[in-house]
Order: sequence, then structure tokens, then C-alpha cells
Amino acid sequence: MIVVLDPECSLKEKAAVVRYVEQQGGRLLVSVVGEETHIGLIDSEAQALAPEIEMMAGVSEVRGVAPPYPHVSREYQPGPTEVRVGDVTIGGEEVVVMAGPCSVENAEQLEAVGRSVAKEGARMLRGGAFKPRTSPYSFQGLGEEGLALLLKVGAETGMPVVTEVVAPEDIALVASYADMLQIGARNMQNFRLLSEAGAQEKPVLLKRGISSTVEELLLAAEYIVSAGNSRVVLCERGIRTFETATRNTLDISAIPVLKQKSHLPVIADPSHAAGERSLVPHLARAGIAAGADGLLVEVHNDPETALSDGKQSLTLDGFADMMDKLRGVAAAVDRRL
Ligand code: PEP
Ligand code: MN
Repeated sequence: MIVVLDPECSLKEKAAVVRYVEQQGGRLLVSVVGEETHIGLIDSEAQALAPEIEMMAGVSEVRGVAPPYPHVSREYQPGPTEVRVGDVTIGGEEVVVMAGPCSVENAEQLEAVGRSVAKEGARMLRGGAFKPRTSPYSFQGLGEEGLALLLKVGAETGMPVVTEVVAPEDIALVASYADMLQIGARNMQNFRLLSEAGAQEKPVLLKRGISSTVEELLLAAEYIVSAGNSRVVLCERGIRTFETATRNTLDISAIPVLKQKSHLPVIADPSHAAGERSLVPHLARAGIAAGADGLLVEVHNDPETALSDGKQSLTLDGFADMMDKLRGVAAAVDRRL
């Protein structure tokens, strides 16, 4: 619910509404939308006060329908959010390409991939040190050793680093090495992880859950932002459907839908959607054409021997080739790579 204040509402009247909600234990969010000042009634305690608030001085109306994710919704902040990660801005004119291996395996691998993708125009380095694997017998990641390699190669190549955190107790450690924390599809509804990622300073890349709706993704983002961290980037990485020709189905329409509903930047992950390297450049192009603010792409110097997701990892040459082809698509939608 949204309380719309009168254009002539005095400061005293506005303060009285805010104080009333707070005194009754309700949560609110004040925002200026065009010419109007809105007070969002966020929780059920605040919403229960609507009849009294409607009668208060300075209130023009109380609107009943508002999304349940006020902090991330366009209704409360019409303009787009730009998220800065080091010297990179996500959500501006540039389409930010984040590239690197699925898992950090060793120094030679990360250096070879990092140097090559940086040369081809990647702006951020990705790589998993803590891997959420479907099987407990699969490679689980190098842990802190992997984080140290990411920090080193990120610095050498001038790219900020994004890497996954899988448990609340690891956040401080991962944040001490990484520029951006990734919350993966399998953890999109790990609500303690979300809240704790919201209580620290590093920006967060939040991936859509494998069977999650757009609304559930936005509510997951709301956990992070309402806990105090507004630097959140959303990622469409494919969802599970009846189709088995691809690993997941890239929900292209989710990109413009998310951008209509939320002011947060949205990126696409063609690698985990495709599951197969020959499809990745096609999905990457579709993502940019649909309005994505960036791409998350898996690249490996020797995909055949990769410890995870080799099948969907581009070779170094394949990545270079894809980047060349993406520039024209970005320009066609008034963006640059
Ligand atoms: C990854 O980025 O390597 C990853 C595990 O992604 P997702 O959480 O989307 O499966
Ligand atoms: Mn992967």
C-alpha cells in the first residue's frame, strides 16, 4: 500500500504520518516519485493503519495495490540504479561482460583465462571458489586458495572479481577477497544468506532460482536491500521447463519484465541456460537485444579437462569470436560493450 501525500502537505503533517506508523510498530519507506511524495506501508502492521492514515491531514489518498517488494520496485524509485563494482558501472550505457571459468582450478588456468578475456573486453573476472554442486562427489572448489587466486589475477588483469558465497558463515571471508558476492540459483531462497549479504557492504549478484518466478526473485532481492545493501544486480540464468534440448530455458522475457518492475540492473547468463558451448553466443546476443545490462559467461582454456561445466564453457578463441559479434548487437540497441 502507498500513502500519497498532498502536494501542499507540510513537513509537520508528513512527520506526523511517519511518526504514527513508526509508533504503531509499522515499517515504511518514503520516496519521491515525480511530483508526488509516497509513503510505502511495507508490512502488515503498517498496512493495518491505512483507514486512520487516510483521514490524516496532508494525505491525498491511500493506494491499495503496490508490489510486495518496495525497496526494489520501480513504483518507489522510477529511475534505474547503477551498481558500481570497483571501476565498473553496471546498469549504465555499457553492457558489462563478466567472464572466467566455472571453477577456479589452479593458477595457470585462471591466469590464462583471465588474461585472455580481459584482452577481449571482459570487464569483470568470474570464478567459483566455493561450488554448490548437485553431487557431493563432484569438485567442491578450492575454497580460500581459490579466493586468493581470484584476487591476484583480478589485480593483474585490472578486473574486479565476482565469486559465489554459499553459506552465511563464509560471507566475511569471501567479502575480504571479492569485489562482488554471487548468490547462486540454488541459494536464491536461502533467506539467512540473503539477509546477511544485505548487512555487509560488497555488491551482490543475485541469480534466479532454477524454479523461481520473477516475483520470488524480486522478493529475494528485497531481503538484501531491506537489510541495508542497495547494490544488487539480478541475473537471469535459465529456468527448468519441460524442454530438455538445453540445460535450462533462458527466460528472455524475464529481462524486460524485471527491468519494468525493478530499478535494479539485470544481467543474463547464457552459459548455465544453454549447457552447451555452441549455443552460448546466440543466447548472449539475445540477452543484450532484450536489454540486459551485462553478461556472465563461462570460459576455460581447456574445457575438455574442466572440473565443472566444461561442456558449456567457451574456449578462449570462442570467447573472442563471441565478443566481436556482440559489439554490433549492443550498438543496435544503443549500448556499448
Ligand atoms: C555458476 O555461476 O557457476 C553457478 C553455479 O551458477 P548457478 O547458480 O546459476 O547454477
Ligand atoms: Mn558453472
